[in-house]
Amino acid sequence: MTQSAIVLGAGMVGVSVALHLRRRGYDVVLIDRRGPGEGASFGNGGLIQREAVYPHPFPRALAELRRIAGNRATDVHYHPLALPGFVSPLLRYWWNSEPTRYLGAVQAYAKLIATCLDEHYALARGTEAMALLRPIGWLRIFSQPEALATALAQAETARRDYGVGFAALDGAALAAAEPSLLVARAGAIHWTDPVSVSDPHALTLAYAGMFTAEGGRLATGDATTLRRAGAGWQVQTEAGPVEAAEVVVALGAAAGQVTGPLGYAPPIFGKRGYHMHYGLRGNAVLHRPILDAESGFLLAPMRAGIRLTTGAEFARTDAPATPVQLERAEPAARALLPLADRVESAPWMGVRPCTPDMLPIIGKLPGQPGAWCAFGHAHQGLTLGPTTGRLLAEMMCGEAPFVSPAPYRAERF
Ligand SMILES: Cc1cc2nc3c(=O)[nH]c(=O)nc-3n(C[C@H](O)[C@H](O)[C@H](O)COP(=O)(O)OP(=O)(O)OC[C@H]3O[C@@H](n4cnc5c(N)ncnc54)[C@H](O)[C@@H]3O)c2cc1C
Repeated sequence: MTQSAIVLGAGMVGVSVALHLRRRGYDVVLIDRRGPGEGASFGNGGLIQREAVYPHPFPRALAELRRIAGNRATDVHYHPLALPGFVSPLLRYWWNSEPTRYLGAVQAYAKLIATCLDEHYALARGTEAMALLRPIGWLRIFSQPEALATALAQAETARRDYGVGFAALDGAALAAAEPSLLVARAGAIHWTDPVSVSDPHALTLAYAGMFTAEGGRLATGDATTLRRAGAGWQVQTEAGPVEAAEVVVALGAAAGQVTGPLGYAPPIFGKRGYHMHYGLRGNAVLHRPILDAESGFLLAPMRAGIRLTTGAEFARTDAPATPVQLERAEPAARALLPLADRVESAPWMGVRPCTPDMLPIIGKLPGQPGAWCAFGHAHQGLTLGPTTGRLLAEMMCGEAPFVSPAPYRAERF
């Protein structure tokens, strides 16, 4: 008998899960209330981050905490009234960022990250999606020599322990690599392995196109209508009710809205981010993405222009967009690069789906036979979508998983 699954959420993670299941013979319906890739997967920095073996820890240094608490930073912003809702997950995040526990998270995270390029290429090779993948790496630039030296020492450790590739650039080498930079900097780390995606939405659409071309079905519907139907599951869609034996929750930051009523309430919390595109003046060029290490914003050359993406904002789910960090980052970005006008009239906003132990949730949904989780990929969901798709599909099909799924199991919360 054909196995069947509903995949809820058509972001990079859900699309990748759906495609991997389809390729294993599942009858799959991928359901989203919008088009594929219109959530966080739309507007991210476009980096497939082979270097990101260290997930973002909660800061533990007092000076750093004081700086963030002032709420005037470019990299982190918060809505004071939202803070009570974040206390519990952030305390757990802080607890898990203690050095010994953090090392455990790094070891588990690095195992997923190590596969990200192979898993993207396994989907993209031989298709039009390859044109979106640029193997150019990205630059983390520094103005303080001491900060550069510290970061280079960490990069050496990452190379030794996790096979991460990089090149050290001094100020002159950086100026030669990016001749349109308007200011001299101490230098940069060039992460040489990562891929820069020229249009992250187009990449999700390309994988979704493979899914439908191979017989998968897309439907529009609200995932919160998920109900048990006999031994399986049912969701209401614009084309009527859809039923399947199994269901995968791949709803990013909204996952809890569906898992909660099923008795599973993981402490997922959102870190918002914004983007805006800009032209470049005159003959200026940006050859590869650059992250300003001190201010924490990224400038990435994309199809739509130079995309400026911001750091983390903590706000209530229903609070209106407050692109404060974009307003703070833009003058610094203009001092760095000859940016021309804004391309869009309003900034884009998306939400990174985060967990307090910095690891995604991939595996069985506790207490609900036939239900599965694939969410919580935080800062690296574009990177880890195909890896997650393969891992979960292997688990659902009873194949030997290509990496141990134990660290990502849902029961840990
Ligand atoms: C500013 C910014 C920069 C980033 N940069 C990078 C980067 O360079 N590299 C990287 O790897 N990652 C990056 N990320 C993180 C990455 O974008 C996310 O981790 C990733 O997109 C999460 O994918 P997802 O499929 O889990 O979620 P999403 O893409 O958010 O998909 C979830 C889907 O669920 C749907 N949905 C939600 N609720 C319902 C409902 N009730 N019914 C039906 N459908 C519903 C949504 O419409 C959405 O399509 C960045 C994020 C931000 C915000």
